[in-house]
Amino acid sequence: DQRKQVAIVGSGAWGSAIARIIGRNCQRLDTFHSTVKQWVFEETVNGRKLTDIINQDHENPKYMPGQKLPHNVVADPDICSATKDADILIFVLPHQFLNGLCEKIKASVAPGCIGISLIKGVHFDEQGMVLISDMIKEGMGGMDMSVLMGANLAPEVAAGQFCEATIGCRDETNGTLLQSLFHDPNFHVAVRKDVPGVEICGALKNVVALGAGFVDGMGLGDNTKAAIIRIGMMEMKRFIQSHYPEVEDATFFESCGVADLIVTCYGGRNRKCAEAFVKAGGKKSFDELEAELLNGQKIQGTGTAVEVVKILEAEGKLEEYPLFNSIHGIAFEGKPMESLFLDIDNMGEMV
Ligand code: NAD
Ligand code: 13P
Repeated sequence: DQRKQVAIVGSGAWGSAIARIIGRNCQRLDTFHSTVKQWVFEETVNGRKLTDIINQDHENPKYMPGQKLPHNVVADPDICSATKDADILIFVLPHQFLNGLCEKIKASVAPGCIGISLIKGVHFDEQGMVLISDMIKEGMGGMDMSVLMGANLAPEVAAGQFCEATIGCRDETNGTLLQSLFHDPNFHVAVRKDVPGVEICGALKNVVALGAGFVDGMGLGDNTKAAIIRIGMMEMKRFIQSHYPEVEDATFFESCGVADLIVTCYGGRNRKCAEAFVKAGGKKSFDELEAELLNGQKIQGTGTAVEVVKILEAEGKLEEYPLFNSIHGIAFEGKPMESLFLDIDNMGEMV
């Protein structure tokens, strides 16, 4: 049997939205096994197990209420059986929960298994910056990893509204295979041979979105938000190309770049929590606001801001990034909101 077995690791908002597309494509295309296993972090929802609800009602009422999942998507609370014999793994969970997971998955998958990460984040360790896709690659014993990023607010994707996404790959054959797995008339997927550019765009735009949320919280208008978006794009580009000089400008014009930055600064959860942070007068932490506003969903911009500032401090380059620096200072060090603009202004021509 030459058909590829696909498994989805994660079942939050994005995992649920993408499971609708993946489920349909695996039913439709001979390249893939029809049954798609989805690893679900088990919890009790309305007195029932979430996996039972998904398998009986074909819906994830906690993270994507009102959107049916195809019947060939089968929820499994056991990471080993969910990924057993998988040829393609789709990683779509907040990366703080990756801990120890790859160790368990590695033993179950088919030989030659490949992976794709839909996770937006970065990590910093003693050696410096680490891509999440590289953490997974290493955890899985060297498996080929691609990434998929883009302007993809999960509820809009689940509703089938037209949008675009970008796959970043190292191996072009795998990139093309994955493109066929994800592509849909309303989900247009482009492929670039650029993992770091695509992936770090996806991580950094969440930091800029916090700045956009601060602007909204202060009651400022669209000119100000556009300035934050533009300066944010410049800092994203500077950060990415200083760490990965091979990343071409073209990546920033794909969905993973400018489009995701815009969408997150207008419609994302990071923006929403940052707006609420300002309105609460700094009296509530981001963790409190996330718990209050998002019903178990997680934002990534705050954690990424911490990692990025650590990386830049270690490199002695923090002052080249006034926007990232002031967003971090406002979120975690009690800096006043106005520092968002003062820090930028003090940079003069640099921005
Ligand atoms: P989410 O924030 O909607 O949900 C949180 C998930 O974490 C749930 O599936 C929950 O079951 C799980 N979880 C909670 N505690 C856990 C634990 N101890 N162990 C394992 N899992 C646990 O998740 P999401 O939005 O699907 O985010 C996944 C990734 O996708 C993130 O990197 C995010 O940035 C990215 N992303 C999200 C969207 C979006 O619109 N939601 C779009 C594109 C990319
Ligand atoms: P938020 O996590 O801020 O909702 O952003 C979702 C996203 O990545 C859209 O592409």
